[in-house]
Amino acid sequence: MSNPSEVLKTVFGYERFRPLQHEIINAVSSGENALALMPTGGGKSICYQVPAIVRSGCGVVVSPLIALMQDQVDALKSLGVSAEFLNSTVDYQTVTQIEQALRAGTLDLLYVAPERLVQKRTIELLQSVEINLFAIDEAHCVSQWGHDFREDYLRLEMLCELFPSVPRIALTATADPTTRQEIVDRLHLGQSNQFVSSFDRPNIHYNILEKKDARKQLLAFIHGHHLGAAGIVYCSSRKRVEETASWLESKGIKALAYHAGMSSDARLVNQRRFLDEDSIVMVATIAFGMGIDKPDVRFVAHLDMPKSIESYYQETGRAGRDGLKADAWMVYGFQDVAWIRQRLMESEANDDFKRVEWRRLNTMLGLCEVSSCRRNVVLEYFGERVSDPCGRCDNCINPPETWDGTQAGQMALSAVFRTGQMFGANYVIDVLLGKLTDRIIQFDHHNLPTFGVGSSIGPNEWRSVLRQLVAKGVLRVDVEGHGALKLTQESRDVLKGEVKLEFRKDRGFAAEGGARSAKKRELSNTTSPIASHDKTLWEALRALRKSLADEKSVPAFVIFNDRALIAMCKDRPLNTAQFLAIDGVGPKKCEDYGEQFMSVIKELS
Ligand code: ADP
Ligand code: ZN
Repeated sequence: MSNPSEVLKTVFGYERFRPLQHEIINAVSSGENALALMPTGGGKSICYQVPAIVRSGCGVVVSPLIALMQDQVDALKSLGVSAEFLNSTVDYQTVTQIEQALRAGTLDLLYVAPERLVQKRTIELLQSVEINLFAIDEAHCVSQWGHDFREDYLRLEMLCELFPSVPRIALTATADPTTRQEIVDRLHLGQSNQFVSSFDRPNIHYNILEKKDARKQLLAFIHGHHLGAAGIVYCSSRKRVEETASWLESKGIKALAYHAGMSSDARLVNQRRFLDEDSIVMVATIAFGMGIDKPDVRFVAHLDMPKSIESYYQETGRAGRDGLKADAWMVYGFQDVAWIRQRLMESEANDDFKRVEWRRLNTMLGLCEVSSCRRNVVLEYFGERVSDPCGRCDNCINPPETWDGTQAGQMALSAVFRTGQMFGANYVIDVLLGKLTDRIIQFDHHNLPTFGVGSSIGPNEWRSVLRQLVAKGVLRVDVEGHGALKLTQESRDVLKGEVKLEFRKDRGFAAEGGARSAKKRELSNTTSPIASHDKTLWEALRALRKSLADEKSVPAFVIFNDRALIAMCKDRPLNTAQFLAIDGVGPKKCEDYGEQFMSVIKELS
């Protein structure tokens, strides 16, 4: 096969490269190492698959998740690419066949689990054949700071010495500079080729709400926008995962659970169903998601706040990989801060690590409390320069009202100060509201001048004030101790009346989708990407896709992704040339499925 553009068209059926794909492919094809940073769904796979096919020899892909290799290889085979995988699930006979194919030079891509790759036998095998590149997927797994750390990834260091002339391309969606440097160092990539694409995911719509009754809010969101669609719901604990999944089931939503406390078999079964079917809601802890490249996940919902913007972005990035409109939806509250703090305190990490994590959490809270464009806050966090507000997040669509909270802020700070900076939010709020609780009497705080000064607003508003004070850095939650609220450097200026404080108004329970009625339509047409007159055809094409997928035991998207089906509904191809012109249809798929799809189109047009 000749050049990259031709392979893109004739194998993958795509018209043009996305930004940076071509540059990365050129670098790797000319034998250089590269680091590719792209958001989830950005199109990383093409960056190593195309050069591996173009160049003579076989490309070796290191991928951490055994359970997903089969899908990756199935997807390539359905495109007519010769691909295999090697991991502990492959039997001896198949291993021998793979070795033969490697020796005969007929294999384009070989996926290998990291622990398998570093075995002596595998290394010797690879040294005896022609390898054209090593792609190290999910390369942030080398980072000992991250929660995806894998011991085996550290041993990939040896590739540099053992295969000095084979280019290495590391790929990840984790953007922070420390991790980036760690990848470059550990995999010896050299400083030159770092390709960092924009981290914007324009098709994802962000929406963050105060937590009132999380489950009810979630149900209203699903009912309002995503009934029958595939989605992921993240919760912070195993217990909450189980409870939420069975609660959704009881409300008629097809939901499954996934967390590290389940047996690996049970996890696999659920993961399989999520991938294969197209309307499952997966309720999960963060144990779920890495490497899941299901393209048609229509929403990612957080019932609890993630511990950092990195986590938030990585998790929400699992929505809408097909480029179609998708929602990132979250509810959050102070209890999340307390929960994360507690877990951090219980962890065995050192103090430096805890401090960094704590700072990250505060930035995350800042994102929740901001009144301006959320997308821009995230992109700036990743070091991108941004200009206009995006127009596609809750704050842009429905700008929050603000109020002058200088006086309320002063009351809160003074209550924190006078109670000795020893108590958490609930206690401070009780003092502000003038509640005569046993504890307050015990500490004699009912005699303070601040006792009851804040009774003109309610507990929810106070909670919102305290959160925003923390997000603004005017108050802080002490990591040690019991999560007591403490004053900061900035508190004094507020108390002295030298700075004014603007707060965002709580949106309240009514605004479920983050939208008021007038704006509702803008947010609510996410469920169906299809025009109403195309509905029948769409459903028929989906049914055909499903039956073909079942027949071959592959996920539906391996046959065609939603994007290709939507294009078929719109363009209604009736001959081979027209069918080939659909983005995502290459000659192999055209030959395998073209007739069947076109006959459905003909019938219903
Ligand atoms: P990542 O690994 O970065 O999360 P993928 O490689 O899975 O993303 O790509 C995401 C989706 O975008 C896939 O469905 C892929 O086929 C599609 N894609 C990648 N490159 C292109 C392109 N140049 N044109 C159209 N679609 C593309
Ligand atoms: Zn915005």
